[in-house]
Amino acid sequence: MFTSRRLFGTNGIRGIVNRELTCEKTAKIGCAIGTYFKKGSLIVGYDARTSGPMLTDAVTSGLIAAGCNVLHAGMAPTPTLQYAVKKHQADGAVIVTASHNPPEYNGIKVVWNDGIELSREQEIEIENIFFDEKTRYADWDKIGSVRSLPSIIDEYVDAIKQHVDTAKIAVKHYHVVVDAANSVGSLATPRLLRELGCKVTTINANIDGTFPGRLPEPRPENLVELSSVVRAVKADLGVAFDGDADRSVFADETGEIHWGDKTFALVAKDFLQTHKGEKIVTPISSSTLIKDVADAFHGELVWTRVGSVTVSQTMKKLKAKLGGEENGGIFYGAHQPVRDGAMATALILNLMAKTGKKLSTLLSELPKYYIEKGKVPCPESLKEKALKRLAEDVKHLNPNTIDGIKLWFTDKSAILIRPSGTEPVFRLYAEAKTSKKAAKLVNEYTSKLKKCLTI
Ligand code: MG
Repeated sequence: MFTSRRLFGTNGIRGIVNRELTCEKTAKIGCAIGTYFKKGSLIVGYDARTSGPMLTDAVTSGLIAAGCNVLHAGMAPTPTLQYAVKKHQADGAVIVTASHNPPEYNGIKVVWNDGIELSREQEIEIENIFFDEKTRYADWDKIGSVRSLPSIIDEYVDAIKQHVDTAKIAVKHYHVVVDAANSVGSLATPRLLRELGCKVTTINANIDGTFPGRLPEPRPENLVELSSVVRAVKADLGVAFDGDADRSVFADETGEIHWGDKTFALVAKDFLQTHKGEKIVTPISSSTLIKDVADAFHGELVWTRVGSVTVSQTMKKLKAKLGGEENGGIFYGAHQPVRDGAMATALILNLMAKTGKKLSTLLSELPKYYIEKGKVPCPESLKEKALKRLAEDVKHLNPNTIDGIKLWFTDKSAILIRPSGTEPVFRLYAEAKTSKKAAKLVNEYTSKLKKCLTI
């Protein structure tokens, strides 16, 4: 029935609803998760997808069949549910979401009692229970209970306000446009912003799991509407979330959309000014901008493999207080070491209020880099061999091989060559002080990689 022994990808279990992810399979996954947790209370919630209530009921039946109690939190952003785990001292959470995937998808994220998604080792234990048919069904009188958990959004909004200067933000009367992707991004951030004294204009804020407004991936090309609304209403800031509102991408007051590295660099710069020598955790795919900020403000940069769970797990292990990703994930440890779109929005406003500067001005103070991308087709079977050969070729350049190959050069240019996890290609990302140099790097390493594939 199952062709591989893998359920979890980089961010939980994902699949097309009623094809790869059916009610039957979801109930069985729920029972495997419940068996792994043994007993205790797990929070369950879901995002705005049409299949959310259906799959939530399925996963809930599996969990209570295994003897776990379910605290049903309803529809909520992923970081709200993660915060609720800590707040209510639950043993974990199961979140029915496919994050930024298109509407036909749904998925399951499993969170431990610290609010962080499970480590790969923990996921393997659940996969073993699932595939080896080791699910444990409770006796009829030991079946778990279900009760509702209201008010988690109020608690989450209150918690975020503890970490910013609410009075300083309130006197500025900022006007913020929120693009909620027709999903749970509309449930917490508009409320938070109003409580911070902001005027809020929302777009795509009606809950609709068909995602009629835009695709739930907050890439600049999907945010044209946000950009024009920010300009039209003369707002100070625009923010767009992904489908489960853990990632946030910002527009400055001119409507220009900025990719996550830049806003993360701003948050890191501000953080290091008051937390000298602290660690900043970020995947190897992040811009050299983060390295520049860490060097300039005496931070210790820790590179990780690509993936938000790796960033969270590394933060936990090293007791680091700040992490970030180029795709708009900001992990503010004082609140919770997971990416959190509403917390990131509050941090950006806090920075604007503290400095009295517009977002475009703050961003213009960062070093400027030009980015060029490329891709080289490569069958799955050759990826590992090609990567090894290339690593050997560039050994003298002191590569970082934590995830693919990353090279930094003395002229501040850099390149990452990384096998795609989902397609038979290598991806190349170069950055440099001129676009010509970045393009040159992509061409040079495309040739080198092709050579490695033909030997
Ligand atoms: Mg997400």
